[in-house]
Amino acid sequence: SSPCFAPFRTTFSQSIRRFISTLIVAEHDGGFVKPSTLSAIAAAEVVSKENSISVLLAGSGPSVEKAAQHAATCHPLVSEVLVAKAEELEHPMAESWAEIVKMVQQKGSYSHIMAASTSFGKNILPRAAAVLDVSPITDVVQISEPRLFVRPIYAGNALCTVQYTGLDPCMMTIRSTSFQGEVNPDAAKANPATITQIDISFLNQEIVGKSKWLSLSSQESERPDLGNARVVITGGRALKSAENFKLLEKLAEKLGAAVGATRAAVDAGYVPNDLQVGQTGKIVAPELYIAFGVSGAIQHLAGMRDSKVIVAVNKDADAPIFQVADYGLVADLFEVIPELLEKVPEK
Ligand code: FAD
Repeated sequence: SSPCFAPFRTTFSQSIRRFISTLIVAEHDGGFVKPSTLSAIAAAEVVSKENSISVLLAGSGPSVEKAAQHAATCHPLVSEVLVAKAEELEHPMAESWAEIVKMVQQKGSYSHIMAASTSFGKNILPRAAAVLDVSPITDVVQISEPRLFVRPIYAGNALCTVQYTGLDPCMMTIRSTSFQGEVNPDAAKANPATITQIDISFLNQEIVGKSKWLSLSSQESERPDLGNARVVITGGRALKSAENFKLLEKLAEKLGAAVGATRAAVDAGYVPNDLQVGQTGKIVAPELYIAFGVSGAIQHLAGMRDSKVIVAVNKDADAPIFQVADYGLVADLFEVIPELLEKVPEK
């Protein structure tokens, strides 16, 4: 912290501290607030200190009501859950969401609006920021002060400190891997937040009709979600075929792990692109990350370098992945995977 900033920052943050109120743009699924949103709430706690947090949910049918119950009891600082319920909000479309966020902001005058940096948050928040005429800050990994943040740049090779000097609200997406979700839910259950349905009659065809939900195609899997899994096993181009990726899937089943892939493996058609880890894929930070036949390009490292323990198997001893690996094995993956399958016991 530069001394010339100190006097300004002290007064600035002290004056702000009194007026902090945070709105979380929340994502839910199957009647529950998603873990990434719980991470956004944990990030809001860092900004809010002891000030209360509001959560905004949208959707249709009983699932949004159930998610509202979950939101109301997920964190002691969540004091208010706002629910926008309508048939046309069944799927999250940025056009409708942005207008809802604007309306809620006009009523609530929040100092901060936050979402997790997921496909949902990255779709909704920038549009909402545009209609509110503020610049959003994306991919925040650290909150130093209510308006002072750290975010990665150059594919995670450098960290940039950003001071927000714009007008309220300060809008941002946070990396869910950098903030711990679900803090002390028992305390929250003892004092649940109020749940309020908001009036969304202003949502006319001109707003809702701008885009149309066509379909969702996703992989049904018994395995944990890549973004939240404790163990991730990733395969690279060296796997050579979709058939060989099934070996990784078998190992993942034994370890209770999620399967990831490099962009080269995705581009070659071995696996669908929702398994891609990296700068243009998912950001993961599991307890254990095992990379088979992954060279360790910077764009891949950008998505997994925060993993707690990294294990790499590569037949090239000079592969860059070994520079970030905690354990490295110079070997042929087609020998190592069958051996692991044989030796790792069933779950
Ligand atoms: P390769 O680089 O070809 O590496 C294969 C590795 O397997 C080699 O190290 C080789 O020694 C090893 N190997 C070969 N055979 C065996 C064997 N039998 N046993 C053990 N090891 C073996 N990439 C991503 O992953 N995610 C991204 O999000 C991403 N975004 C990108 C965005 C941009 C704008 C650009 C330009 C690129 C992006 N890339 C991304 C691509 C990235 O630059 C690399 O091309 C890619 O990660 C390489 O994938 P790979 O490691 O599977 O393949």
